[in-house]
Amino acid sequence: MQHLLEPAGLAALAETMRHLPLVALDFDGTLAPIAPRPEHVSVPPGIGWRLARLAQCVPVAIVTGRRIADLRPRIGAAADHVEVIGNHGAENADDPAGSAVHARTLEPLRATLADAAQALDAAGITVEDKGQSIALHYRLARDRAAAADLALRLCASAAPAVRAFGGKAVVNAVSAHAPDKSDAVHALARRHGATHVIFAGDDVNDEPVFAGAPPHWLTIRIGRDAPSSRARFCLGAQGEMADLLARMLALLTASGA
Ligand SMILES: [Mg+2]
Repeated sequence: MQHLLEPAGLAALAETMRHLPLVALDFDGTLAPIAPRPEHVSVPPGIGWRLARLAQCVPVAIVTGRRIADLRPRIGAAADHVEVIGNHGAENADDPAGSAVHARTLEPLRATLADAAQALDAAGITVEDKGQSIALHYRLARDRAAAADLALRLCASAAPAVRAFGGKAVVNAVSAHAPDKSDAVHALARRHGATHVIFAGDDVNDEPVFAGAPPHWLTIRIGRDAPSSRARFCLGAQGEMADLLARMLALLTASGA
């Protein structure tokens, strides 16, 4: 995977910005660095105001695994300027009825997890019920492999109505019929009439976006830890994101957008 900030990547970025693309971005590990506790995460200085300025020129959306209400206070100056799709694509403020159905589908899994509360606690797993998805965090578990195994087995008991997928020290469960991040980004692009899209993400649940993107979309995996990623380009680390946003703004300013 080529680094985006090398000549070929920068040429692709310049070409994409000419088309006033939809800019859709993951949050944790992409716009903000990962922290041991998810409640402590927010965007670093330099990200929030750049997102807000970018949103004055092109549609900007954050497509996150978090709840929308949880995400907004974490993005600084961008809070009132960007769209947010939550719960891995399953929470959409424009579709409250569909979002409610996706939340109800998780009821049997909620009951299973309540019954298994002691075992989950003993394994060092924290359950975060986000409405349209349930996250089983095991970042603080002593035996992460065993914790992941238990989390996946409990989620599997609710299949096929519920789909589970891994992330960084987390197992996520969503309704099998809910849109994923790829569905969400394609829907945003259609709604904004955007022929070109820039999407960046750092995790397993971002891969469907990379895999489902037309070849001319600019897809960016954050980090070099996934050599088999389907993204076209990568950034070396989350810390390079502010630089990428600055370059997008500079290209828009140069073109008079
Ligand atoms: Mg992420």
